[in-house]
Amino acid sequence: MDEVSLDTPLGPVVGAKTAAAFEKAFGYRAVGDLLGHYPRRYTHHGELTSIKYLPVGEHVTIVAQVVHAQSRSMKNRRGSLLEVIITDGVGRLSLTFFSQPWRMNDLKPGRRGIFAGKVTEFRNTLQLAHPDYELFPEDEAVTPLSDEPEIRTGHYSGAPPLMAKSAALIPDLAAAQAWVDQPLPIYPATAQVNSWTIQKTMALVLKQVRVTETLSESLLSDEQLLPLGVSLRLIHQPGSDKEWQHARESLRFREALHLQLSLLRERQRRSHEVAIARPRVASGLLDRFDAALPFPLTGDQESVGAELSAELSAISPMHRLLQGEVGSGKTLVALRAMLQVAENGGQSALLAPTEVLASQHLRSIQESLGPELTEQLQPVLITGQMPAKERRRALLATAAGAAQIVIGTHALLTETTTFSDLGLIVVDEQHRFGVEQREALRQKAEQTPPHVLVMTATPIPRTVALTTFGDLEVSVIQELPPGRLGITTHAVPTREHPQWEKRAWVRAAEEIALGRQVYVVCPAIAPGTTEATPPAGGASPQEASSAPGHPEAAGRPALKPLANVEDTLGELAQEPSLVGARIEALTGAMPAAEKDRVMTEFAAGRVDILVATTVIEVGVNVPNAALMIVRDAERFGVSQLHQLRGRVGRGSVPGLCLLITSAAPGSTARTRVDQVAATTDGFKLAEIDLELRKEGDILGEAQSGGRSSLRLLRVLEDGELIAHTRGIAAGLLEADPELAGLPVLRDVLNRERDHLRVQNLAKS
Ligand code: ADP
Ligand code: MG
Repeated sequence: MDEVSLDTPLGPVVGAKTAAAFEKAFGYRAVGDLLGHYPRRYTHHGELTSIKYLPVGEHVTIVAQVVHAQSRSMKNRRGSLLEVIITDGVGRLSLTFFSQPWRMNDLKPGRRGIFAGKVTEFRNTLQLAHPDYELFPEDEAVTPLSDEPEIRTGHYSGAPPLMAKSAALIPDLAAAQAWVDQPLPIYPATAQVNSWTIQKTMALVLKQVRVTETLSESLLSDEQLLPLGVSLRLIHQPGSDKEWQHARESLRFREALHLQLSLLRERQRRSHEVAIARPRVASGLLDRFDAALPFPLTGDQESVGAELSAELSAISPMHRLLQGEVGSGKTLVALRAMLQVAENGGQSALLAPTEVLASQHLRSIQESLGPELTEQLQPVLITGQMPAKERRRALLATAAGAAQIVIGTHALLTETTTFSDLGLIVVDEQHRFGVEQREALRQKAEQTPPHVLVMTATPIPRTVALTTFGDLEVSVIQELPPGRLGITTHAVPTREHPQWEKRAWVRAAEEIALGRQVYVVCPAIAPGTTEATPPAGGASPQEASSAPGHPEAAGRPALKPLANVEDTLGELAQEPSLVGARIEALTGAMPAAEKDRVMTEFAAGRVDILVATTVIEVGVNVPNAALMIVRDAERFGVSQLHQLRGRVGRGSVPGLCLLITSAAPGSTARTRVDQVAATTDGFKLAEIDLELRKEGDILGEAQSGGRSSLRLLRVLEDGELIAHTRGIAAGLLEADPELAGLPVLRDVLNRERDHLRVQNLAKS
């Protein structure tokens, strides 16, 4: 066979059957994919895995020792039951095998090995039913160093002493020590591909692979990095803990460096792009708009506006992230940028994450523009769900250039929307869009690259900004428009105070009596259903399905259905205090026209209570809404709750947010709710949210799967490394913009980029 490299397909190297198993279990195809499957942790031959805290219901891999094995015939069935007790030196775990008495020959008292299987609980004892196991060689079961007092004290009566054979069996003490020191990798495994199969396959691959170094000698020595080939070998087959630790650090550094190089190269590439300059026109559309504005701009709106205006006037395309709390007036800033583009004859596209938000944007933009400017700019809406005829008209106006502001959802990306002269793309509420969509958008206008403005209300910690948005410049609006009365938030713990939920409805009635409006948000549409997009950073799937035996896994009682729009409508109809209230539902499952109608009615004040799912999460703006009630609040992520409450307190009416939760005090779920109630500081909440979320959520799907993934880098913990590698990446590119001196690295980066592109295409 040809030389095996990281790009060689797995099949010829490990055999077709094994390759197929790895592809099925993990999606790996190439040698490099497999080698990127790093151990979750390491254990030692002399070290047993603690049994006490094994999670019931989960697949575990543990190192343990056999205490005794006993086979007996079964009462009600044919065949025999083999029960094997294994220990970590403190606790016991039982393994059961049906009709496999021959296993007794392997599983002799004193033998040690790795055991893997799903943990179940039976009559108060933990057990693994039909586990996989791999015993250490019989000789090796004898630890020459007598360092397990708990076992030697005869803690388990009936268990044979561990030191059954003498240390003399291993003649070379140094070899014995090395064996004890050698870490055993424990891999993320599945029921089909277990940890030691992975270990053996790694060994097979490592024996054959030739890894080409990607970095320069001097960088390796400056940063004390192990060469790539050595790192990959030592992370999988370390001779000591020091070795895997060093390998891990080296690989982590490479991940951070690759990420920064990619982002900077993207920025570099764009800096060569030439956009059309859209300078401000004296006495143009923007001047007219500003003159008619009913309020003065805030200082931040003013300064960010000037920043955008200057960038739009240049021929290098703008790529800017605009951060600002909900209600800080970002939309207005964006609209003003669109007007500057329009007065130069260019079109702007505004991309919103939901249909509701897109149509609300259209309405509020028309309102802000006033009849004359609306007539002139012809803002249109393009969404996937709108009637074909209407959409065709909008598409035509867009293609012809008559519509100078085009607002839409994903349909803007995926439909055959063509622009006559697309000058500016505004992406609203970025956190709903992955990195990949931004990329897809940019690719859409390949000929003359447009200016790009990304807006987000989710404050982004600096390290995340450097990672996810490392290719963008950042502006921040901190100041809120004057006269905001703010929001008060309370957790309503119904587990301790069941009657408090009723009080929330009474409170709603009081607001309605004052002429104000109320949102009630539920995590599900109907009993047994959820919205298509699971709440980011909310309860994990494990939490969602309270596992049998763990009725309170999510801190909520089992069997209680998820609060949902349908049931809530029914409950509110029965609520004496709400007799006569006008109540409507809004969910993602409703037809677009119906959603639009309900939203319009609510905005016009003709609906008192809107019972909704998170479709109203982002951007919805009804200043008269005073109360936000979130049911089963623990089901939402921190940022999501923060976004939700941002829907109230937007006008001159003070906002109140009640987070109803049945989560147990002290549970993670409850903590999340309490934290949101405790602070309105978006930045603080973003940090909390980040800690509770998986990295993949932050970085977008494209970066969490396949070869380009970040496996070791942790955005929150590795901030220093991220900043450090950013400096190095910048230095490398400055000295050698094309990376001509590091051709292997350049190829790897290009491949990672193409890989990402392919994934994008597959999605769009
Ligand atoms: P964001 O998109 O940042 O959440 P919006 O742009 O939707 O915020 O603005 C929220 C509300 O504040 C809107 O009703 C808008 O008209 C109003 N607003 C924006 N800027 C100002 C300002 N400078 N003074 C008073 N009200 C403003
Ligand atoms: Mg907004």
